[in-house]
Amino acid sequence: MAKKKSKVCQFCKEKAEEIDYKDIGKIKRFTSGRGKILSSKLTGTCAKHQRMLAKAIKRARFLGLLPFVKI
Ligand SMILES: [Zn+2]
Repeated sequence: MAKKKSKVCQFCKEKAEEIDYKDIGKIKRFTSGRGKILSSKLTGTCAKHQRMLAKAIKRARFLGLLPFVKI
């Protein structure tokens, strides 16, 4: 899953203008098993898309599509 090393931002590669929070299959790959957002260093996501991703993940969590992180 997200363990693959990639230096290229996946979203730039796809020329994504926005990240759909309903696209759980995709954004899940950028979270840890417990639903934590993986750092851009791990996933290779650029700053711009990392921000969008964080927003999408927070939105998905809010709607109950992704688990909240409980620490
Ligand atoms: Zn990008």
